[in-house]
Amino acid sequence: MIKSEDIIESVADALQYISYYHPIDYIRSLADAYNKEQSTAAKDAMAQILTNSKMCAQGKRPICQDTGIVVVFLKVGMHVRWENKKDSLEDMINEGVRRAYLHPDNKLRASILNDPAGMRVNTRDNTPAVIHTEMVPGSSLDITVAAKGGGSENKSKFVMLNPSDSIVDWVERIVPTMGAGWCPPGILGIGIGGSAEKAMILAKSSLMDPIDINDLLDTGPTSKLDELRLEIFEKVNALGIGAQGLGGLTTVLDVKIKDYPTHAASLPVAMIPNCAATRHVHFTLTGAGPADLEPPKIEDYPNITWSPSDEAMRVNLSDVNRAAISSWKPGQTLLLSGKILTGRDAAHKKIKDLIDSGKGLPSGVDFTNRFIYYVGPVDPVKDEVVGPAGPTTATRMDKFTDMMLAKTGLLGMIGKAERGVTAISAIKQHKAVYLMAVGGAAFLVSKAIKSSKIIAFKELGMEAIYEFEIVDMPVTVAVDSTGVSVHNTGPKLWKNQIKGIKVTSK
Ligand code: SF4
Repeated sequence: MIKSEDIIESVADALQYISYYHPIDYIRSLADAYNKEQSTAAKDAMAQILTNSKMCAQGKRPICQDTGIVVVFLKVGMHVRWENKKDSLEDMINEGVRRAYLHPDNKLRASILNDPAGMRVNTRDNTPAVIHTEMVPGSSLDITVAAKGGGSENKSKFVMLNPSDSIVDWVERIVPTMGAGWCPPGILGIGIGGSAEKAMILAKSSLMDPIDINDLLDTGPTSKLDELRLEIFEKVNALGIGAQGLGGLTTVLDVKIKDYPTHAASLPVAMIPNCAATRHVHFTLTGAGPADLEPPKIEDYPNITWSPSDEAMRVNLSDVNRAAISSWKPGQTLLLSGKILTGRDAAHKKIKDLIDSGKGLPSGVDFTNRFIYYVGPVDPVKDEVVGPAGPTTATRMDKFTDMMLAKTGLLGMIGKAERGVTAISAIKQHKAVYLMAVGGAAFLVSKAIKSSKIIAFKELGMEAIYEFEIVDMPVTVAVDSTGVSVHNTGPKLWKNQIKGIKVTSK
């Protein structure tokens, strides 16, 4: 007999738990990759992610400002009896989600919108979860809870290959097109076979398994799927994409594959990446009370503490102008201090509509000679000025970049991942710059923010325009004023350098 309160409490606890504790296999694997990394920029990004991870575990605050869409895999024993006959199992899970995301001590960001093709209205409590249910023999309820970031989910791929096509060739061709918006280094989940939707679910569920590629390298492959995992792991890392797409030795920490029988005419293949905010936990309810999730030990975290490199240049934003930014070099690390404005998808759309209609920007919003930070922060708790506030994927703002640079006097942008051709050409034309902060290091980044106030579009919640006052916020020059992008030059360089370097630990 399973009580609904046990399900609700366990799901709520699990979501709080994964918001601040990385799975320990991810930490170990990333620390291992950090120790082997030879690219300075990639190593610095990994140090930020690892330092952030430990800070989040200690402070019980989210690893990333994007606290994810909740995905739940249920295995329901066919002999389970339910104490609550009124609510559905989905209702109980969603009540757990609601409780977790509204927790007063660690409020998580509500990112889920109703009416996705229309009004896109935030549900305010991150419900509903995406729930996959399987009926299995037995009398227990097996639950895996994950919180998947939008940046990595947006890079999901699916293809119907011909049965004779090579899966490895497809993966090798597609991964570079995914850019860095999925915040590598992470894990690739691959689903092969079944039907189209089955392959996608296999890919997602494979990401719930522990990282164990080094064990596979130790024991050697014993099946065709093992061989495929190893081949994809080596070939993807040989692409040189590296942490945050800056070029480096490790792009993926593991490749997980699940398969299912398929039609003779088909070879469905799905690929879903998991990011620097890999978050999932598994537990079983037997009727003996809620799940008891053991926290990781602080000794499980590597002794790595990020600090800015000696070469990092301090920049006072109140003194910066177009002439000054033209001297910034691609790959250069800056520590920004001063005032910046924020804005992401919804704010950009509103700004464009206001400018197009001739109404102009809302009063108090002036981008002249300023930087915009693409971010949707978590709400603050206790004495925080802002919750975790890492960058969101800049590529989504590419279509607004020329308008922003041409019409608002904006000097530059701060986000994560690469810029596309249109944005780079606008940056070059307006002699602007694009700076990159590390995705997946949101709590660490938020410590550089000393004050925060909403100055426009309050109704957009986390997508409002804020003014942040920052001190020593670490960023890298990702596109300089001549249009050189480190996301183009870095991976190219490391793809060559990597030849002859042993990427795997064995
Ligand atoms: S690590 Fe990157 S992709 Fe993952 S949730 Fe955070 S911002 Fe999104």
